[in-house]
Amino acid sequence: MNRNIAIDGPAGAGKSTIAKLVAKQEKLVYVDTGAMYRAMGIYFSRLGADPADEAAITAQVDGADITIKYENDAQQVYLNGENVTGLLRTEEAGNMASKVSKNGAVREKMVELQQKLAQTTAVVMDGRDIGTVVLPDALLKIYLTASVEVRAMRRYKELVEKGEQCDLKAIEADIAERDHQDMTREISPLKQADDAVLVDSSYMTIEEVVKAITDLYRERLA
Ligand code: C5P
Repeated sequence: MNRNIAIDGPAGAGKSTIAKLVAKQEKLVYVDTGAMYRAMGIYFSRLGADPADEAAITAQVDGADITIKYENDAQQVYLNGENVTGLLRTEEAGNMASKVSKNGAVREKMVELQQKLAQTTAVVMDGRDIGTVVLPDALLKIYLTASVEVRAMRRYKELVEKGEQCDLKAIEADIAERDHQDMTREISPLKQADDAVLVDSSYMTIEEVVKAITDLYRERLA
């Protein structure tokens, strides 16, 4: 029986925090697909590529070898042999990821890698197109969202805790731009799958969201 969980939603909705906890509780492997696109973003940033130049992006995508390993239960992302996991969570990597992820050749490569990962083990996978494209037969599909203001505030607090200088309004604008890019791109735009359950986490605690998802999951497993 297919035991996979797909979690999609916009930037900053808390997908990775929730997915990690659900994976731990249900003994599933957590696959963070945004991290793969972020690694791709770093690859193109380092090349100095113009993300708007579709032909150049397509021509260079094969030079990026992205692999996933699990070390101490945590996903590690390698770009051409280099562990880039520590470089992925910056706004710059996220923005570049969002820009290059609209390219068809980039998506094809990432989807293939993600589907391969789910063939060998049951997963909780989070991203933008997991329920719609990558795992259309997932046992449970969640569309996790929250208001732009709440998402921006969460990211702001995360950055402040890390001691980074940041501006709430700039983060809000950034999130709104990323939503727009992700929801309006031609290939695999972010949208709720027809059979996904909508969870708006704006006024929910992390524990409440995890419980809502694991309760649904156990009902389906039964
Ligand atoms: O989820 P995260 O913010 O790490 O993702 C970074 C970017 O990668 C997103 O804004 C989105 O453009 C892209 N992405 C995607 N499909 C996925 C996961 C991420 O297009 N499955």
